[in-house]
Amino acid sequence: MTSTKVIPRPESRTRHDPGQPLLAVDEPPPYSVINPDGASPYLLLCEHASNRIPRALGDLGLPEAELRRHIAWDIGVSALSQHLSRTLDAPLFMANYSRLVIDCNRPLGVPSAIPEVSETTEIPGNRALTAAERQQRIDTLFTPFAATVARRLDGLQKAGKRPVVVGIHSFTPVYSGRQRPWHAGILYGRAVEFGQTLIRGLQADAALAIGDNEPYTIHPDEDYTVPVHADDRGLPGALIEVRHDLIDTLAGVGEWGERLTRCLAGALKEFGE
Ligand SMILES: [Zn+2]
Repeated sequence: MTSTKVIPRPESRTRHDPGQPLLAVDEPPPYSVINPDGASPYLLLCEHASNRIPRALGDLGLPEAELRRHIAWDIGVSALSQHLSRTLDAPLFMANYSRLVIDCNRPLGVPSAIPEVSETTEIPGNRALTAAERQQRIDTLFTPFAATVARRLDGLQKAGKRPVVVGIHSFTPVYSGRQRPWHAGILYGRAVEFGQTLIRGLQADAALAIGDNEPYTIHPDEDYTVPVHADDRGLPGALIEVRHDLIDTLAGVGEWGERLTRCLAGALKEFGE
């Protein structure tokens, strides 16, 4: 296990005056859209692609080693989701900042949206934030990402299309000391048939243990992408979770990229899209 010791830092290192911009002009925008004109009905989201912290927030009071762990991002998913965007010809919406700053897959206002503790690590730079500090993270990072996805879905639905929303995630093999048995998991809410189709597709390989709403479940209090972008619109949607040690190399990304491409392409056929 990686150390979860907190190294105290002077408050000034992690506090930022919300009257000043959170992002400097030379920093990446809050999100990127890859393959925006992709023709696939799939709309891919990668909310946990990056462990980047806006410079104004320093290191959130965390040692470098913590910022490289899964608490800051989903290891491997940036490369995996870009692979899928290419092979499926699907647009991909990717957040460019760490979920430790604000989680783009959490409803606003829940404690885990801007976590003071992640797994067992305290996040000093998230402690006792003022309303203005929270609002700035929402306005700068969360809302632009959520709004651009919503606008795209509005446009597609108005044009009579039926997009399929899929979030690409990874999970740690060991969480709070517990080993997890799955290679991957499919998480879904109301789109039970779509979720089950993806699970059957992955279970075609008998060597794989595939979680059915494991290692997490979708809940409107803990999730944003599936409840808001898919379920509330009556669209099929799911999150795909891959164990991160399976996709932390280029070979692993290639293998899972091809496997998930077959699974997702097969699911569209089954749904007659
Ligand atoms: Zn994730």
